[in-house]
Amino acid sequence: MDKTYRYSKQRELIYQAVCDTASHPSAQMLYEHLKTKYPNLSLGTVYRNLATLEQMGKIVKVQSPQNVDRYEKTQLEHGHFYCVKCHSIYDIAFDDLQKTKASLENKTSFTINTLKLQCYGICCQCQEQTNLE
Ligand SMILES: [Zn+2]
Ligand SMILES: [Zn+2]
Repeated sequence: MDKTYRYSKQRELIYQAVCDTASHPSAQMLYEHLKTKYPNLSLGTVYRNLATLEQMGKIVKVQSPQNVDRYEKTQLEHGHFYCVKCHSIYDIAFDDLQKTKASLENKTSFTINTLKLQCYGICCQCQEQTNLE
């Protein structure tokens, strides 16, 4: 990993946009958000820079049930909650993840590198909406 990356203003812009939101945006979502301020930006540029940022280890892909790649900045391991109604993705801090990993390793004698917590359900906002209907 001794590939060097030239500083790119657009890449920095896209990275900041990923960091500034908790919504785990897709390329399309970022493009819609940024193009109001930066009309010269193209969707292709967003895709390309997201791929580079991922290679650099600054952001990671978050799997979504719709099979659209969503992104977030690289951070400590945490779980994700997927709302099946509005397709929002929320972070879930789960302190016991390491403990669970250790106990699974004990049980199976596998070495587990990553353990992912994925929850599916209805988010608070969608619950409220359902109550109003
Ligand atoms: Zn929802
Ligand atoms: Zn996350």
